[in-house]
This record gives sequence, structure tokens and C-alpha cells, in this order.
Amino acid sequence: MRYSEMELDRDVRLEAFKFLTEQMAKYGEILTASQINEGFRYHGESVFLKGTPGIFKPRILPEVPISITTVPEVPGHPRPYDDRPAEEGVMIYRYRRTGPNHPDNEGLRKAMAGGIPLIYFYGVERARYQPIWPVFVIDDDPSASSFRIMVDEAKAVMGRESWLPDSEGILRRRYITVEVQQRLHQVAFRAHVLRAYHQACSICSLRHPELLEAAHIFKDTHPKGIPAVSNGLSMCAIHHKAFDKNILGITPDYSVIIREDVLEETDGPMLQWGLQAFQDSRIHLPRRKEEWPDKEALEERYDRFKAAV
Ligand SMILES: [Zn+2]
Repeated sequence: MRYSEMELDRDVRLEAFKFLTEQMAKYGEILTASQINEGFRYHGESVFLKGTPGIFKPRILPEVPISITTVPEVPGHPRPYDDRPAEEGVMIYRYRRTGPNHPDNEGLRKAMAGGIPLIYFYGVERARYQPIWPVFVIDDDPSASSFRIMVDEAKAVMGRESWLPDSEGILRRRYITVEVQQRLHQVAFRAHVLRAYHQACSICSLRHPELLEAAHIFKDTHPKGIPAVSNGLSMCAIHHKAFDKNILGITPDYSVIIREDVLEETDGPMLQWGLQAFQDSRIHLPRRKEEWPDKEALEERYDRFKAAV
């Protein structure tokens, strides 16, 4: 790139990061495709950040793509790039299928050579993405048809200093990438659980996603605490807390049990209608049977509920 092109490239990227920060402040951490595609104006020209192909370069940029996108994981179908164990603190991004020398793949190689930051739109659910930026292509692995990607902190690219990191910068990127991967697992887990339960609490059917959470049957720190829908239950905040604190238990045959001393208390409507009224009721289950809570997990969790009572 000529110097003027490099300046333009840098300016547009910084504007894109600002635009995403604003969209996320307005709409939340997860953006829909249409919220991303609102785009922004740069000296009178519209700039869009995401196209249909996974690797996208807006018209205004001379050479290097601005974003990469992955589609959401479909239950039962692992993502194509999840087919080998990832190195800690590195994300894997598969080549475009059209071949290693496709211009899009070439574009990512240029991003790698220039240390140029990109945006990663990580598909969480259909047409809903978690934007992650800045991400850097750090390696090209033709034998696995994939790039290796690291995430950095936003402030590392907002100044005028070089985007190519020193060894300290690499360590920081590795550390941040691990954190981002953990967050993505949680974000995806919540999205999958809420989708399976039709965005409703499995106990009381409350339908306000902003009050809903994905409860783990086995805690995510437990060896069996996998981020699969069958290890989750969609619950409103109060029922989630009651479940975690052993005020509310769920039997392996999907019935709700309220702790005895709480059943005997006398108090206002939250206690009466929010907890006691659900004694012996059956939880609402996902339509797909393979997404129902795992019976063994419920049994082990219910034993702990009984032991705590
Ligand atoms: Zn509820």
C-alpha cells in the first residue's frame, strides 16, 4: 500500500471500531446483522462492515479486509474449524473454501504481514453476532487450511503507535484471547439455552429475555459442566438464584420441589406466587428431546439439593 492508502486504511478502521463501540452501547453486546449493516459514513461514502462471505472488505479500503465472520454453531453440528484441539489463547479461522489463493485469503495474509487489526463477527445465534475487535491474524497454516487469530485490547490500536506487537504484546494478546474465548462460551451457552426454551423461564414461563439467564446444572467449573444445552436450564433471575442456593430443586423427572422451611413461611406475593405456588409443578422443556436436561446430571444435582436441605 502507498502511504496515503495506509493512512486511509488506518482511519477507516478506527472509525469502524468507534462505530461498533456506539452500536454496542446502544443495542448491547450482541448485534443483529441489520444493526451491523447500518454502517457509517466516511467522507460522504457509506462503509459497511460485513458481507455474506466470511471475509469482508468494504469498497473504500484498498486491499485488506476489515472483518471475518463465522456462522453460529448448529446443535449437533460442530463448527468446521473446531475439528482439532486449539492452542491456548489462539482462535482458528478456516480459509474460504474456494481455495488458499482466493483473494479473500490473500487479503488476510496482507493483514498478517502488516499487523493490521480486523473485526471478528462471532455468530452466536442465527443472524446475531458478538463483535470482537481488534483481532490480528498471527499465523497462516496451509496444512490445516486455516489462519490463527489473536484478540487484543481496544486501546492497543486506538493510538498512533505500530500495530505490530513486541513480545510483551504477544503475551497480552494470548491472555486476552483466553478471556474472550471463555466469554464467548458463556455467551453462546446462554443463547443456545434460551433459544431451546423459547426465551422463557423453565419454571414460571416468564418471557423477558432481559430477565432470563442460563443456569448450569453442573457448574461450569465442574468437570461435567459442559456448555451444552442439556447441562442448562433457562430460568428467570429469581428462579436461577433459588436453584443455585438450593431453595428450589428439580427432580430427575422434571418436577419442582421447594425447600420445606420456605414452603412453611408466610410472606408477601413473591414468596407465595413466585416460589411456593410452583411446588410439585413440572418444568417446561425444550421441544427437541435431545436438548432436555440430562437425567443423570439432574439426579446428581437433586442429591445435592436434598443434602443441603
Ligand atoms: Zn421464573
